[in-house]
Amino acid sequence: MNAMHQNNGPVRTTCPYCGVGCGLRIGLDAPGAITVTGDPEHPANLGGICSKGAALGETIGPAGRLLHPMMRQRDGSFARTGWPAALDAIVDGLSRVIERDGPNAVAFYLSGQLLTEDYYVANKLMKGFIGSSNVDTNSRLCMASSVAGHRRAFGSDTVPGTYADLDEADLIILVGSNAAWCHPVLFQRLVRNRQQRGAKIVVVDPRRTATCEEADLVLQIAPGTDAALFGGLLAHLADKHALDYQYIETHTSGFENTLARARELAPDAASIARACGLAQDDVVQFFDWFRSTERAVTCYSQGVNQSAQGTDKVNAIINCHLATGRIGKVGAGPFSLTGQPNAMGGREVGGLANQLAAHMNYVTADIDRVRRFWRAPRMAEREGFKAVQMFDAVARGEIKALWVMATNPAVSLPRAGAMRDALGKLELFIVSDNVLSNDTINAGAHILLPASAWGEKDGTVTNSERCISRQRAFLPAPGDAKPDWLIVTEVARRLGYGETFAYQSAADVFREHAALSGFENDGSRDFDIGGLANISDADYDALVPVQWPVRAGKQPSNPRFFAAGGYFTPDRKARFVAPEFPMLAEAVSVKFPLCLNTGRVRDQWHTMTRTGRSPRLAAHLAEPFVEVHPRDAAAVKLTDGGFARVTTTHGSCVLKVVVTESQLPGSLFVPIHWSGETASSARVGDLVASNTDPHSGQPESKATPAAIAAVSLPMRGFSRTRRLLELPLDTWWTRVETINGPELRFASDRDILFWHDHATRALGRDAQVAEFIESEGESSGQTYRIAAFVDGEFDGCLSVGAGTSALRWDALQHVIAAGAPSESNVTTVALVDPMLADADSGPMVCACFGIGLETIRAAIRSGAASSVAEISCVLKAGGNCGSCLPELKHILARERAVTAA
Ligand code: SF4
Repeated sequence: MNAMHQNNGPVRTTCPYCGVGCGLRIGLDAPGAITVTGDPEHPANLGGICSKGAALGETIGPAGRLLHPMMRQRDGSFARTGWPAALDAIVDGLSRVIERDGPNAVAFYLSGQLLTEDYYVANKLMKGFIGSSNVDTNSRLCMASSVAGHRRAFGSDTVPGTYADLDEADLIILVGSNAAWCHPVLFQRLVRNRQQRGAKIVVVDPRRTATCEEADLVLQIAPGTDAALFGGLLAHLADKHALDYQYIETHTSGFENTLARARELAPDAASIARACGLAQDDVVQFFDWFRSTERAVTCYSQGVNQSAQGTDKVNAIINCHLATGRIGKVGAGPFSLTGQPNAMGGREVGGLANQLAAHMNYVTADIDRVRRFWRAPRMAEREGFKAVQMFDAVARGEIKALWVMATNPAVSLPRAGAMRDALGKLELFIVSDNVLSNDTINAGAHILLPASAWGEKDGTVTNSERCISRQRAFLPAPGDAKPDWLIVTEVARRLGYGETFAYQSAADVFREHAALSGFENDGSRDFDIGGLANISDADYDALVPVQWPVRAGKQPSNPRFFAAGGYFTPDRKARFVAPEFPMLAEAVSVKFPLCLNTGRVRDQWHTMTRTGRSPRLAAHLAEPFVEVHPRDAAAVKLTDGGFARVTTTHGSCVLKVVVTESQLPGSLFVPIHWSGETASSARVGDLVASNTDPHSGQPESKATPAAIAAVSLPMRGFSRTRRLLELPLDTWWTRVETINGPELRFASDRDILFWHDHATRALGRDAQVAEFIESEGESSGQTYRIAAFVDGEFDGCLSVGAGTSALRWDALQHVIAAGAPSESNVTTVALVDPMLADADSGPMVCACFGIGLETIRAAIRSGAASSVAEISCVLKAGGNCGSCLPELKHILARERAVTAA
């Protein structure tokens, strides 16, 4: 790895993961390595960083990179080609489809991982020059309901507040948000506020997550009932005369109807508690706190958005803030926590099929304005297909050419199995990415384009609080990789639009984007960064984080929106919206009696193409799992640590079972991260129904009716080989990155004899002569281990045994992890006497310092640590990024409970 900025001090850039948008400092002093620290001057994180951000250095490098354009051959393999040939093939293919079937037969599917400049150019090409609005993005799966809710209420997709409000609030309500894991640095700000100012935190979520460890009140709400709770709150506020009548009268419309609907949905606390599955006292407590706390912020995230009624839920929350005038004020307002690093930037450029650029809409005046600004020959005049609709149109054969950029829809879409089948029907299927292989590429891509990755490209991103920050290149792009904006620009030029796609740099694109936002914008549109339209290259390079609006003239004195009204509706008033009766799109049934929820884990990101490369991140939760309540586990004889098949109408997965009271009875939780590349049967998108919200088009990813059944896989093992060991098709496996390379963990119902034969055949197969050291466990052949050596060098190993002999399993891993194992130490320590290598510290809790659960438990039990602070002091755990602090708190409480019992 060659650094571009040698010895020039740290490069300041932005984290590529979540919507917190932390500023980072990249140190390039050590040859071949980077150091990543939080930027104390960035307003989003003030120096903070979480486990994912801190491990970024482990995720870069040449392994698995797509380095050159590739074209699929007749035999199904890919062959390297040059940029001119790949671009010509794309242009020929797009032109053929457009000429024959019209512009709506092509589509782009983008990503919240793209930079704003990438997004801008792709959106412009499709909507202004190809003449279709079939541009949508994986952000549709993430926060489209917040966009739709904002637009219904405010007339614009505006996040009114700032992160500073989270420091100033006296009450913070987190709805459908496991912020401790999904927005960790922001969560630490909330925790500091609670510790230092005494702010109260309320969590509303069907799951009892790590976030609840810092909550003053947890409302473990029944899935899909949020609008009843917030409708009840609105009615309560009205009954207690706790409304801001002046704000309602001056700055809003539609209050009376909305209040009437709220009373219908939730006439009193008792009925709300029943509808939401909550204790009435808790409901009353929440209502009292909200009523009596002027500085209240309600944060909402995927638990609200990923719903067939997500938009209604957003509006039910916003209604309460409008009715109390608690919006756009210090420490008060509704606050959408965005999942992805640049979902907000994508919204700003109109990277959604139902938006135009610069927060403009499909209305005549806006279409005309964008057309004139772009000098667009074929301006799209109506909305295109939203994500799920887009892939359904691919399945029907209506869309014949698709270009996927920087995302992995074959894993992340609902009904992902059917979507993969649909991708195989495309006449032209282009993928721009930086990995050589993923499930989307493997679903039949024809042309692969190598895109520059984080650290190799320049541009901007916008975080959840409207703050635009620079991502800066500090590494050269490897091979033939190019930034996405340039790839799209070169296609546009080949299509004949060179004059209007004359960009020479990301700064050129940014200036045009900024100019469009200010074009004929006299304050009628919220998004305005026209003040940056003439920014010089040098100033763009040096751009410090800046919150929009950045108008060309006088800047607003308040960084927040709407404290004094000024909404972006025709009458400049906010609209109250009466939600529909809350219900899930599909009810559970006798066949599918459980409600399947999906979401993220602390140390992984999306489909693991990046975080999956970090050994320390992999160590936190290494294997795909399903969480199930003890009652439901007992009903079908599941055991904690065993295996289960989760089935819905759309597919099934086999997962490790975690029995936990954090789940509500009747519900399951499965993480979204594992793909066909990293596990045999854990792609949860295959199971999720594609019921979408009528306003936002966002699918209900958190409530698919499902069934669960035990699966017997009595033999468990792992293998570590130079080239991943081939396993029989009926083997359950997952791939885990370790410091010495990838490891396969597997489970099977095949016996020791089978594994003996399989391992001796598979290990060392590429070598002329391989030496094997084998051992069998004492208890009548219940374990079998084999290590292969070629020319005295360790070549690979496999360990398998009955049941959960994790200690013995881990013993061999520890020997290997300690360094290149020699024949003698493998023989003496791992194979002959595995107990000597007893160094198992259990599942990783603190990724920064590699501290496992058992080590922490031992410290607590020995009396060496009796508080989270002491654990940090004794073991360092939790002393760096703080992402594991909620887990430490939980472990401590559990150990105390065990001791007390
Ligand atoms: Fe990155 Fe973590 Fe900050 Fe999110 S909270 S932006 S993942 S460092």
